[in-house]
Amino acid sequence: MTDRLSSTADGLSRAAELLRGGRLVAFGTETVYGLGGDATDPLAVARIFEAKKRPRFNPLISHFADADEAFRHVVPTASARILAERFWPGPLTLVLPRAADGAICDLAAAGLPTAAVRVPAEETALALLRAVGRPIAAPSANLSGAVSPSDADHVLEGLDGRIDAVLDTGPCAVGVESTILDLSGDTPRLLRPGGISVEDIEAVIGPVARVSASKTGQAPVAPGMLTSHYAPGLPVRLNAQSVEADEALLAFGSPLEGARVVWNLSETARLDEAASRLFAGLRYLDREGTRLGCRRIAVQPVPSTGLGLAILDRLGRAAAPRPAVQERSVA
Ligand code: AMP
Ligand code: MG
Repeated sequence: MTDRLSSTADGLSRAAELLRGGRLVAFGTETVYGLGGDATDPLAVARIFEAKKRPRFNPLISHFADADEAFRHVVPTASARILAERFWPGPLTLVLPRAADGAICDLAAAGLPTAAVRVPAEETALALLRAVGRPIAAPSANLSGAVSPSDADHVLEGLDGRIDAVLDTGPCAVGVESTILDLSGDTPRLLRPGGISVEDIEAVIGPVARVSASKTGQAPVAPGMLTSHYAPGLPVRLNAQSVEADEALLAFGSPLEGARVVWNLSETARLDEAASRLFAGLRYLDREGTRLGCRRIAVQPVPSTGLGLAILDRLGRAAAPRPAVQERSVA
């Protein structure tokens, strides 16, 4: 059962309490309803993917009460500060390098060295974000592939029983998603058109490169680019039924014997736990495996149901052939 909370002081404090406890709460923003979860807690983020039945771990937008909060977790450029001043709170998402001491977890950033941040323009949403005091990941509050919800009824149509609560803040004012602008490279790049026009952005910071979107509503990040960020240094062997002497093991459930170093995604074979430990595990095995002279990471079978699909998608990318020059992800 999903609670419908009203946007009263009581509703807000309940919503904040749930979010701080790692639970999922959908809430209205000026764009669409977001499915909120603590972006610093990989288990909460795993539950977002599970609730949405998303077949892959794409990076999520973290939401903040104000620019100062947001810029504690990413490294703002001069343009970022100017745009924040001009358009926040509002439907503009900025992609920036993750700060070394930022708290947005790897799963929320899909292992990328950058993170997407935004300050929404909805009073109740801002009050909620202030009350929680942590980055809140919030993709649209619908099942994967369904239309974005612009009121609480839409949210419940898709997610009733799959999330803890929806904070009913009434219908959304804008109804289209935020504009996503990547400021992490040399030139600002438009990754997704949305509530703030690129012309308005250009009037403030000068030329913005348009990246042709393959599908509406999806950031056209080149798959090759993602693959290279996603790949650990050691080759990955999927579906291992046994371990060789020079392999590190990414275990799931009861671990195979004989590996030089082991990271168990979930001893009890829970998929949400496995998802929450996936990025940390790959980094650990890459580092320790290399140190111990391993040549490969063997991966035990993971079921292809529920979150298992997204885990396998991620592992499949890690096992894919590498580009010649590999860009390593953040430590
Ligand atoms: P949604 O969560 O449905 O609002 O969609 C979030 C969008 O932001 C997706 O299209 C992501 O690919 C994009 N996004 C989030 N973080 C990043 C990032 N670090 N780099 C590029 N795109 C991002
Ligand atoms: Mg969506």
